[in-house]
Amino acid sequence: MKLYNSISRKKEEFIPQVEQEVKMYVCGPTVYDFFHIGNARPFIVFDSLRRYFEYLGYKVDYIQNFTDVDDKIIKRSHEENVPAIRISEKYIDAYFQDADALGINRATYHPRVTENMDEIIEFIAVLEQKGYAYESGGDVYFDTKKFNQYGKLSGQDMDALEVGARIELDNRKKNGTDFVLWKAKKEGEPSWNSPWGEGRPGWHIECSVMSTKYLGDTLDIHAGGQDLIFPHHENEIAQSEAYTGKPYVRYWLHNGYINIDNQKMSKSKGNFFTVRDILKQFDGEVIRFFMLSSHYRNPINFSKDLIESAQNGLERLYNTKEHLEHLLEHSAVVSMSEDEQTTFNELSQYRDKFMAAMDDDLNTADAIATIFELARDINKVVSDDNSNEFLEHAKSLLMELSAVLGFLYRTKGSLDDDIETMIKKRNEARRNKNWAVADAIRDELLSNGIILEDTPQGVKWSRALD
Ligand SMILES: [Zn+2]
Repeated sequence: MKLYNSISRKKEEFIPQVEQEVKMYVCGPTVYDFFHIGNARPFIVFDSLRRYFEYLGYKVDYIQNFTDVDDKIIKRSHEENVPAIRISEKYIDAYFQDADALGINRATYHPRVTENMDEIIEFIAVLEQKGYAYESGGDVYFDTKKFNQYGKLSGQDMDALEVGARIELDNRKKNGTDFVLWKAKKEGEPSWNSPWGEGRPGWHIECSVMSTKYLGDTLDIHAGGQDLIFPHHENEIAQSEAYTGKPYVRYWLHNGYINIDNQKMSKSKGNFFTVRDILKQFDGEVIRFFMLSSHYRNPINFSKDLIESAQNGLERLYNTKEHLEHLLEHSAVVSMSEDEQTTFNELSQYRDKFMAAMDDDLNTADAIATIFELARDINKVVSDDNSNEFLEHAKSLLMELSAVLGFLYRTKGSLDDDIETMIKKRNEARRNKNWAVADAIRDELLSNGIILEDTPQGVKWSRALD
């Protein structure tokens, strides 16, 4: 399998440190709000890479952190007048709900900053002992001049970086590119005791500490959004390699940006969507399908039209699956004929094509195109006359490839059944003149994008489109 390594700027054959094992770290969310569509991209893309490794028989140790100590969390806690820990707990729960809806599997472990404070302090203390860090006014900074490979990931020259950083140089730092490892306590902020007094860690240090704690000094893969290359990942390399004296990461993977209606997403432009917003209108599986329809390194444009076409595409695959299920209900329980065996062997070639796409730097766009070709050919060849063994094999192949990307797991009508059940409960409440319950059910359905209409023929429901 070839992967594009950001640090060498080329596709390289993936060779893990231990055969058939992958140690992989992905930067997780800062939990001060629901995560947005831009955050969702790396979570979905690298979950798919992990699934593919597992499909190939690798054992994958997959770590994704929660940043639960941060300026934005503290700001939010002041605005809402609740402790910071309540904010982070709320949005960690929300992360899992939304990630589940997007079919993102749980990481092997999701470490949090607040649970790793001793390790973070110890790490900074070692950097200080080794001369890579210095204290200044209760803060501790990493001395980037001491790490002579600083800039190697982002491909930037130290002098150019220094000129850029000088503009905002604050006098507590020795060099413009130095970054904070430990921040002295400010009034009203959560803080921890340390050799440098009370304070809290800077952002970058947590990923160096938690990745090496769970995965060892050298990771096979470190992944995240392209916006993290500098300074976050550059700083992670400096901290980790200064601490261990060993290479930190073998393969750096970064996904491209998301635009909204061809514009950069920003809160001020009002084109800022949380996954939770979009889930009111579209199934999480549709969002996932949309994300994987482009190569992960390309920029991706998010628009209502494009996500609707993703929905249509996914429905076509479900139609093939459901058609096979329908034929299976009526098929004869017999083995494949010789002709069927030949046809199935032909269909199986799509597996090789699918894997070739995935092996080429996780080309999920081509992998999806291959699943469509498979579905098209299945539609062409199947009929009432097929044996049940042939139909089962065709269905398994379609499901097998789709599952690698996290699609087609929905069972027939499961969502619709839930809606019907709620409508029945509401009808019963209405008959009993229990209007509060009836209204509550209507509201709950509405919040999930389901609109009820009371007609003379009974209740009809539809999905809200806007
Ligand atoms: Zn990180």
